[in-house]
Amino acid sequence: MVEYTSLKANYDLFSKEYEEAALRALRSGWYILGPELEKFEKDFAAYLGVKHCVGLNSGTDALILAVRALGIGPGDEVIVPAGTYIASVLGITENGADPVYVDSLPDTLLMDMDKVETAITERTKAIMTVHLYGQASNMTKLKEIAKKHNLPIIEDCAQCHGSAWEGKLTGTEGTISCFSYYPTKPLGALGDAGAVCTNDDELADKVTMLRNYGSRVKYHNESIGRNSRLDEVQAAALSVGLKHLDECNNIRIKIAGKYLEGIKNPKVQLPVTDPHATHVFHLFPVIVDDQEAFQKFLLDNGVKTAVHYPIPPFAAECYEGTKAGFPDGKALFPNAYRIATHEVSLPIYSGMTDADVDTVIEVVNKY
Ligand SMILES: *Cc1c(COP(=O)(O)O)cnc(C)c1O
Repeated sequence: MVEYTSLKANYDLFSKEYEEAALRALRSGWYILGPELEKFEKDFAAYLGVKHCVGLNSGTDALILAVRALGIGPGDEVIVPAGTYIASVLGITENGADPVYVDSLPDTLLMDMDKVETAITERTKAIMTVHLYGQASNMTKLKEIAKKHNLPIIEDCAQCHGSAWEGKLTGTEGTISCFSYYPTKPLGALGDAGAVCTNDDELADKVTMLRNYGSRVKYHNESIGRNSRLDEVQAAALSVGLKHLDECNNIRIKIAGKYLEGIKNPKVQLPVTDPHATHVFHLFPVIVDDQEAFQKFLLDNGVKTAVHYPIPPFAAECYEGTKAGFPDGKALFPNAYRIATHEVSLPIYSGMTDADVDTVIEVVNKY
């Protein structure tokens, strides 16, 4: 059986380093807001080439606190791709603001930047782009629109650590960027973790205050904050992961290259990378004629797959009857709807064997 993913295979590649780092943090007797976090924040900011990285407990909280730090709340609107994981939208709705969805492109599966400008209203307070599946979205076009309308850009970088648009790393061109270090992500902790990155001193300072109950000085709570801190053991693990980030990205890029070359089946649309972008293939999304039949055929032939994501946020149960829910979303956002109902992600992870890669190609071609 070819597994869809294996965190164990990835862990085994660097287990000695992970265990040393975890033990170092455990034995230090310092578990929250300590030297491991400080070191990782400094190193990740340096990796991107930005001024600030503020470590947080998850990518979801990174999105929530980025929106909050921008002063966005009830009555405000934030533009967001219709085709994304729900956490992008939770970042908006958890602040009482409303998402305004923009449809996806049918080839790169990313937000259609040509449709962003018509979505802007006088209530729009920010534009959020999501570099989904590992591919950088069109930052040239987005920056042009944002500048014209004087709007901040929020980048959801949960799936794209190390990818770039026109040579500039994702998470460096927007006003504030939100990273997830969920274990499966291109840079993953051994538990939940996330961060925001920015060149804006004030935004970094605000998120630092918000992650710690909304206080800068102990027991002086100036804002309604949260507890969103990134702990020392996870920060130590992330320092190991960061050292190997490019290496692991390259392993997946190589597997993707083999898929792109080896898979030849008219029923399977392979991922398209914009010539201005790089793709770190967090996922390998294909578009197929029949999602269910394709998944079943692959499983029957020993290949596990997944779907990202079967229910778009605009159709989520939790948003029914709210301004974030669109029962007619299928007609309003046809490309995002088609992706949700036709996308299948093939196995791709560091630690995947060459034999497994060959099996996937063979079985997909037989479909
Ligand atoms: C994983 C993910 C998130 C949420 O990150 P968590 O760390 O799981 O909270 C947000 N946006 C996208 C696109 C993601 O893939």
